[in-house]
Amino acid sequence: MDESTNKKTSHAKVDVIIIGAGASGLAAGKEIAKAGKKVCVLEARNRLGGRIHTLTVPGFSTHIEAGAEFVHGDMPVTKSLLKEGGIEFNSTAGNYYGIKNGKFHDPENLWIAFSTLLSKAGSLKQDIPFSEFLDQYLNEEKFKDVRETARAFVEGYDAADIKRASTFALREEWNNFGQSDQYRLKSGYIKLIDFLSKEIIKHNGEIFVSTVVKEIRWKPDNVEVISDKGKIYSARKALITVPLGVLQSKPDDEAHILFSPGLPGKLEAAKSIGYGTATKVFLEFKEAFWESSENQIRKMPELGLLISDTPFTACWTQLPNKTPLLTGWLAGPQAEKYKNTSDENIINMALDALSYIFNADRSFLLKNLHAGKAVNWQTDPFSLGAYSYATIESNEAKKILAQPVEDTLFFAGEALSEGTAMGTAEEALANGIKTTKKL
Ligand SMILES: Cc1cc2nc3c(=O)[nH]c(=O)nc-3n(C[C@H](O)[C@H](O)[C@H](O)COP(=O)(O)OP(=O)(O)OC[C@H]3O[C@@H](n4cnc5c(N)ncnc54)[C@H](O)[C@@H]3O)c2cc1C
Repeated sequence: MDESTNKKTSHAKVDVIIIGAGASGLAAGKEIAKAGKKVCVLEARNRLGGRIHTLTVPGFSTHIEAGAEFVHGDMPVTKSLLKEGGIEFNSTAGNYYGIKNGKFHDPENLWIAFSTLLSKAGSLKQDIPFSEFLDQYLNEEKFKDVRETARAFVEGYDAADIKRASTFALREEWNNFGQSDQYRLKSGYIKLIDFLSKEIIKHNGEIFVSTVVKEIRWKPDNVEVISDKGKIYSARKALITVPLGVLQSKPDDEAHILFSPGLPGKLEAAKSIGYGTATKVFLEFKEAFWESSENQIRKMPELGLLISDTPFTACWTQLPNKTPLLTGWLAGPQAEKYKNTSDENIINMALDALSYIFNADRSFLLKNLHAGKAVNWQTDPFSLGAYSYATIESNEAKKILAQPVEDTLFFAGEALSEGTAMGTAEEALANGIKTTKKL
């Protein structure tokens, strides 16, 4: 893995240039390199992985997953790569709790909400935005709770704006929800990235970090990729795996790529797919006070996942790993509201939320706090958000984006996924691999 330098103004022509060294670009790179083609991966950041970002932060006694953390069920591509790379993973564990209006709230309410929503959405013939669905089918007072639960879930889990989210896509998601275990990679998601990148190098591929692609000049079977340092990389084909936020970006954004000649149809299509955001907050305590708390503090033995009516709609522990680490999840429109809030203030907001959830004084929480960190993906210049969600136009838009341009430019990444787990690392890997079959 090399840093991009100014030593040469151009680079020997390769078969395929991949733009973006996230899950999708690296999975594609591995396939292409193994097939004996010459591949070169260009990555803007000084690290690999993109929205997979396992961090070791001073003060924390375990690594933290700033981006992707879970394998959401028995995902075939992820699991097969983990097996191939000999990478260990384990099931998440722990109890599920709910807090609403300052009291315990039966977590079963989520399943009740899902079954009500599915029975109402089951007969829907034409896709409509989820907010319209709620207004048309669940407007009665008796559905107030279901409406609130559903809105919080779509905004939180899918990081989506309910005014744009596709009801058909949500119906499909709920039909499959919670049917299998969730997993974590024991030594972090980065192990998967390490494995993929080593495979590329092993098969004579190249990876350049700190190389921001600024322009792609192309004609059939000939691509010139210009970096921020003015270096030119040439190839017969280019595979573009940058996040949807970059495809939707404005010309003055750091990651923005100029296509010459332009691709207005593709960029218009990219804009009609939903792209939500998320901020993760990590708070490690000296002890898991929720396990055996004294006096008025609310006890939650074996806490695994907690859903609450705070801006941090979900919060979880690392069980079965017993590190007393709580991860708070601020997503969708709630996270957008706090786009420019400092990390310190986000941590303070999270402490306020925990104070409410556990009925604990802030002074108690502060006394017990060992380390804190917030990671805001909205202000990350090379992501500009967290992950995509389906709108009522996105199926059509994805078809447009997935269509190769003159057999020379190809697009891949989590946002182009055709599976039901849109927005996940699995779909990024699967879509990257699938796209290589067209090259
Ligand atoms: C907070 C958060 C939590 C998540 N949790 C989960 C989870 O638990 N489970 C799960 O499965 N998924 C999760 N995801 C989603 C998952 O991380 C992504 O779907 C997946 O990693 C996307 O991979 P990708 O290769 O498509 O894109 P990326 O990983 O974003 O890769 C694209 C790469 O392109 C690079 N790039 C951008 N612009 C340029 C440019 N101009 N020039 C060169 N390079 C450029 C970027 O730096 C990046 O490395 C989460 C995401 C976030 C943000």
